[in-house]
Amino acid sequence: MFTPMMTTPLTITSLMHHAERVNGLVEVVSVTADNPRHRYTYRDAFKRARQLANALKTLGLKPGDTVGTVAWNDYRHLEIYYAVSCSGMVCHTLNPRLFPEQLEYIINHGEDQWICIDPTLVPLIEPLKDKIPKVKGFIVMTDEAHMPDTKLDQVLCYESLIAEQSDQFDWPELDENTPAALCYTSGTTGNPKGVLYTHRSTLLHCYASICADVFGLSIKDVALPIVPMFHVNGWGMVYSAPMVGTKLVMPGPKMGDGETLCTLINEEKVTVSAGVPTVWLALLNYLQQSGSKVESLQRITSGGAACPFVVYDEMRSKYDVDVQIGWGMTEMNPLGTYNGNCPPALESLPQEELDQLRLKAGRPVFGVDIKIEGEDGQELPWDGKSSGAIKVRGPWIINEYFHYDKPTLDDDGWFETGDVGCMDEWGYLQITDRLKDVIKSGGEWISSIELENCAVNHPDVAEAAVIGLPHPKWSERPLLVVVMKEGKTIDKQEMLGWLEGKVASWWIPSDCVFVDELPHTATGKISKKDLRVQFADFQWS
Ligand code: ADP
Repeated sequence: MFTPMMTTPLTITSLMHHAERVNGLVEVVSVTADNPRHRYTYRDAFKRARQLANALKTLGLKPGDTVGTVAWNDYRHLEIYYAVSCSGMVCHTLNPRLFPEQLEYIINHGEDQWICIDPTLVPLIEPLKDKIPKVKGFIVMTDEAHMPDTKLDQVLCYESLIAEQSDQFDWPELDENTPAALCYTSGTTGNPKGVLYTHRSTLLHCYASICADVFGLSIKDVALPIVPMFHVNGWGMVYSAPMVGTKLVMPGPKMGDGETLCTLINEEKVTVSAGVPTVWLALLNYLQQSGSKVESLQRITSGGAACPFVVYDEMRSKYDVDVQIGWGMTEMNPLGTYNGNCPPALESLPQEELDQLRLKAGRPVFGVDIKIEGEDGQELPWDGKSSGAIKVRGPWIINEYFHYDKPTLDDDGWFETGDVGCMDEWGYLQITDRLKDVIKSGGEWISSIELENCAVNHPDVAEAAVIGLPHPKWSERPLLVVVMKEGKTIDKQEMLGWLEGKVASWWIPSDCVFVDELPHTATGKISKKDLRVQFADFQWS
């Protein structure tokens, strides 16, 4: 076959090579357990990645093997990402917020051979040591002076391990479809399922994510990825920042702490950041209490769950920060749609409509093909109101779960996301629910997300969830479960009254209960599954 253009493989190794030569002098700043402010350059990072690659080879690891990480966002984790994937091995990021049984399951299922652990997380893995027989040893990510006492066997110190190694390494020539990283979904149903990203899917996702209407990253930016590297590779920022030369600021174990985030933003002149809504609520809370400002910060991405209006509104009006919504999931590497720049034709919409538009999940990035499917399996029109199952396909969408015995795609090759939503003519996606959380009352769908958003906009409400429970007349009705802010109380009538006029009257939950806390999943989202169990015996009054 005539091949008119080069077919250079799209590998993370090529990204690393480029970043070292072109952006090698750009800084990477980290908070770690052993150093409150470590700083070096991408050039230093990749030099140490080569030392680590040599060290992993001396441990007997070879292409195709899996190396686990239990770590925060910091420079050593960055080095591990590149050393492991570019050696042709698989970097398996373990979420430290998973239950011990789930960690045990995914370490065994992922066939991790060695595990790199942050010193603060060693106690989490110690109880599992006799249940993970394939693991040959542990590398603790610190220096000798900070090595913790541990009951684990075969423990090595990261700094000592790489210190003895050469900083020259011949990276293998990899096919672009070589697996690079493994990430498990948090398993809201059944056991966690593994998604194995390839070099190609990672690179294509990276190109898409830096586009102007998405993260829009450039050499002028300073990025603070708060979304953990153990959750969908930190939404790819550890690849996209070095690709374009964006300075990286990594918060380490302090990622949910408003004060640390605010200090890092101000001292390192952070321009862009990404995280889940709870992180933004924590930052907002701190800013309000302390009176601090975040003047360098231009835009933040909120994703992983619906963004409460208060985050979008206060960040913009009080701190001049543009809040951009992203939608995606582990199976999508994760990017699917993004709500960045607004089409000029829509900029003149009345403020209220513009706010509604900016709170949608955004427009598909090129590379993600989306369709909305009705209950009869027919594709629904993009009319802004026809709601159905969201299906996706494209070069960074899952094809098959890792070692899984059921089909991952539908008969036509689409991946069913499990989300429900509608599309408008401008290609804006609105997520209305998770398929399993949808409430069907009298044959009609009620959006639990919209009700929750409305409830948390009440100034005294800290968190809210809506679940559907069986009802004798309507088959299902919504129940509102609310956590109040500290020291605040309101009664049921006031809470339900707050929703009146803001949603259709028949959507108003049939009852409301106040609780001290809501159950959360390992990725910090409200666990509706646990909530439904908790309220299984609930009686409508
Ligand atoms: P899990 O929580 O199942 O581990 P992910 O962390 O990959 O999986 O989360 C993916 C899910 O998070 C999506 O399917 C969707 O339900 C939800 N989600 C992500 N972004 C948004 C968003 N912008 N708005 C609403 N829901 C979102």
